[in-house]
Amino acid sequence: MRAMVLHRAREPLRLEDVPPSEPGAGQVVLRVRACGVCRTDLHIVDGELDRPKLPLVVGHQVVGETEDGRRLGVPWLGWTDGTCRYCTTERENLCDNAKFTGYDVDGGYAEWVAADERFCFPIPDAFDDVQAAPLLCAGLIGYRSLRLAGDAERLGLYGFGASAHIVAQVARYQGRRVFAFVRRGDEAGAEFARGLGAEWAGPSDEPGPEELDAAIIFAPVGELVPAALRAVAKGGVVVCAGIHMSDIPSFPYELLWDERVLRSVANLTRRDGEEFLALAPQVPVRTHVEALPLEQANEALDRLRRGDVRGSLVLVP
Ligand SMILES: [Zn+2]
Ligand SMILES: [Zn+2]
Repeated sequence: MRAMVLHRAREPLRLEDVPPSEPGAGQVVLRVRACGVCRTDLHIVDGELDRPKLPLVVGHQVVGETEDGRRLGVPWLGWTDGTCRYCTTERENLCDNAKFTGYDVDGGYAEWVAADERFCFPIPDAFDDVQAAPLLCAGLIGYRSLRLAGDAERLGLYGFGASAHIVAQVARYQGRRVFAFVRRGDEAGAEFARGLGAEWAGPSDEPGPEELDAAIIFAPVGELVPAALRAVAKGGVVVCAGIHMSDIPSFPYELLWDERVLRSVANLTRRDGEEFLALAPQVPVRTHVEALPLEQANEALDRLRRGDVRGSLVLVP
């Protein structure tokens, strides 16, 4: 099968003909129909997440089809031990021995993928293959971040990429007010956010028009942490949704005072996936996607690195 293979960090992926992975116990083999490009893929290829298996096929927003015609989604959480103190307390996202798709095991930048069926999700009929792909990480981790932001009415989204464009729609559906913070000068990004229900969109280095009850930071930029703490009201929550972020500059304790909460979100549980994929058709979430052929994976990653993406890029073998 054809696959885009990572041999070393900071090198382009190589298009290769590799034998399809043999399914292990409990695994299904899926013909890949679409695979979303996630910022985490970029962190792996750029060496910021530095323990991948090598050689590696990245990609963890996979929509595939089983031999008997079922459409399944393969997310980032590929396997857990089910026995550690996290797994046994409904926190399998923190499993000590978790295996992640497109990092510890081969993912979806390929024509075929093998996945543990217990961690796959049925894809709702309302979404075609390409539209469904970004739901599997951008949507799912975004949904978990939103849940952990609590019942905030005034929600700030920092970085309006693949995740935020989905979360904004879910938040509006839940009756929240959405404020989008984009890079200074990114007028097209601000316009995109307004079109998806943000009542205000403006530069992230300034406070918004009013205090926020919670903020979710999707951009991998540590400077946004003190900026977001400054923007939330007393008791407000700041959620860091990315797997990697540049260092956070020091800031006065005053910014955290008055019971403000700062936390990260790691991975997903299967419960997050089931809840979100049941909710998405009700909203209904409309994903903004651009499909590219599998062979253009390096171009797709370059565009994500440059911020030249509106919504999500999706690779189609
Ligand atoms: Zn575990
Ligand atoms: Zn991801």
